[in-house]
Order: sequence, then structure tokens, then C-alpha cells
Amino acid sequence: MAFGNRDLAVDLGTANTLVYERGRGIVVSEPSVIAVDADRGEVYAVGDEAHRMIGRTPATISATRPLRHGVIADFEVTEQMLRYFLRKAQASRWARPRVIMCVPSGVTEVETRAVEEACLSAGARQVALIEEPIAAAIGAGLEIAEPTGHMVVDIGGGTSEVAVISMGEIVVETSLRLAGYDLDEAIMAYVRRHANMAIGQPTAEEIKITAGSAFPMPETIEVEVRGRELLSGLPRTVMLDSNDIRSALAENVQQIVDAVRETLDQTPPELSSDILVHGILLAGGGALLHGLAERLEDETSMPTRVADSPLTCVAVGAGQALEEFDAIARRQILARRHPRQRGPRMRR
Ligand code: ADP
Ligand code: MG
Repeated sequence: MAFGNRDLAVDLGTANTLVYERGRGIVVSEPSVIAVDADRGEVYAVGDEAHRMIGRTPATISATRPLRHGVIADFEVTEQMLRYFLRKAQASRWARPRVIMCVPSGVTEVETRAVEEACLSAGARQVALIEEPIAAAIGAGLEIAEPTGHMVVDIGGGTSEVAVISMGEIVVETSLRLAGYDLDEAIMAYVRRHANMAIGQPTAEEIKITAGSAFPMPETIEVEVRGRELLSGLPRTVMLDSNDIRSALAENVQQIVDAVRETLDQTPPELSSDILVHGILLAGGGALLHGLAERLEDETSMPTRVADSPLTCVAVGAGQALEEFDAIARRQILARRHPRQRGPRMRR
């Protein structure tokens, strides 16, 4: 390995990007946001700094999330964002690292190539890919190489993925284009309808985090909601409680629960009985929604637990996979030459 070249693993999420450096751990963790100055065509800010600008930029600057539902929506801007994160992680400006990129399991070949190319043109020397549910399982410490079934449910900002893993591979999967941001939107719509008030996404997200739930909470939580009254256009405050917010989220939460149930339904019986023993692992920021584990247990009868650090386990698992970089890269070349048939795949 050349001096200064360190291997990196990148979890390029719709909401957050994390970079793991081999031997060091997570070195970058920032929102996947970039602010671009349209007049000059220059990058104005990236990550945390750009995130603070969302909804607050003057006309010439736009602060956006270049990924939608886990896939690249704007290639050039994603590449610039990735370049910034890779550079931030690297000690040397000139180093060209080998990189493992995490990709959602439900993406197409074209979308996968786009991630690879963006990473190469952002400065990587070589790129290998790992599927996010596999990385999440490794990061959470599951023994995935064994011939035993494990279920991982990863709820991010733009996608929810349900995967059954055995012998290091995904056997059955469902990928849903519904996740954290949709929950925020459901809260925005609820407040509009029931309180005649407009609120922004960051406010809705805050409400979700403090008072959102998927299962009745032991105590009702009150939240003060500040927004703009639709009729008068003036700022106003209303009080809502956790029961209101749960009903706002109910439909979306049900869709996630249904995706888990359908995936279990498609799972071969030996693997289902393994899951009954080992349970379901929840990962991604959405796993932190109050009562989601209880709700899934209630509806599927499978023991369910939230990963110890749901927001980082994909990056940590991909980071651990760096130890086998060559093996992963070789498998991918083979897989491209001889595509294998996988079990049921659903994408909605
Ligand atoms: P991605 O992999 O798509 O970048 P993450 O796994 O980083 O997504 O999760 C981001 C999502 O998790 C956001 O929609 C955020 O609102 C949500 N989230 C973070 N913390 C919580 C929480 N405590 N309760 C509910 N949702 C949360
Ligand atoms: Mg993710």
C-alpha cells in the first residue's frame, strides 16, 4: 500500500454520509447536503454547513440533497459532495484511496454503476460495493456467514429495506421508497389539515423525533408546534400530543410493517424458523422511532431489537469489510460475468 493511501468505506445515504477509515473508525459523519452557487457554478458549502442553509438560501444559492430514495438523482453534484467527504477523510490531498461503497439492495445495475463512477471520479483508485443490509448486519455483529437466517430492516431517509440474509448473501428482499422523510411529510400534512398551519421539514422532523411513535407510548408527550397560519400568514403556535403524531404517521408506519410481513411470507421455512429464534434487527435512523420494535413484534411475533447504533452500523460494517477488500472486489467481477438468480425481489 502506498504511503498515505488509506482504505475507506462510505455509507452514502439519502440523509447522511459516513466515512470509515480502516484502522481508525468513523472519520466523517455529515448530512448528505450540498449548497451550490448557481451563478458561479461553484460549491458553496457541503455537509453540516450546507444543511443549516436548507430553506434559508438566497435565490442564487441552492442547498439540496443530491440523492433521492437511496440513489443518485444529480450525478455531478453527488460527485462533488463525495469528493469533499473523501478529501476530508484523507490526510493527504493526493492520496487515492481504495473505497468500499454501500449501495441499497434494491438498486438497478445502472444506479450501481453511477455510484461506482461518482466515487472513481471523486478520487478513488478502486471501488468495491457492499449491499447496505449486509453491511448493517456485519456492523451490528451478526454472524452472517453461517447457514442461518437473519432479518435486517434498515429504515433511512428515503428508503426502507427489508432483507433476509444467510451465508453472507441476501436471500429475500423488499425495498420500499418510503422512509424517514415520508414520515416528516405526513406530519407536515397533518398539521396543515388539523391546525391550518404550514411547517417546514426540519420542524416536522423534530416533532417526529420527540413525539413520533409506532406503538402507544407509556406516557403522552405534548409538543409545541410553531408554524405559519395558512389564512393570516402569521406565525402561530399550537399544542399537539404524541397520540396526534402517531395517527399522522399511522399509514406510513403500516406500510413498513406490511413490507416486513410480506417479506417473511416469501421467506423459505427453514430461514423463517431461524428468524423466530434470532429475531429481526432494526437499523437506520428510522429504527429510532419510538415503539417501532414493539410494533413489529406485535404484528409479526418475531423478537425485534434495535441495533446498538442504528445510524452508524452500515458504515461500521462496511468498514469491517475493508479487511476483505480484494475478496469482495473479485466476487463482484465474477458476479457481473455470471449474474445469479436471487429469491423474490420486490420494489415499490
Ligand atoms: P440514510 O441512510 O437514508 O442517510 P439514516 O439511516 O441516516 O438515513 O437515517 C436518517 C433518517 O432517520 C431521517 O429521516 C431522520 O429523521 C430519521 N431519524 C433520526 N433519528 C430519529 C429518531 N430518533 N426517531 C425517528 N426518526 C429518526
Ligand atoms: Mg442508510
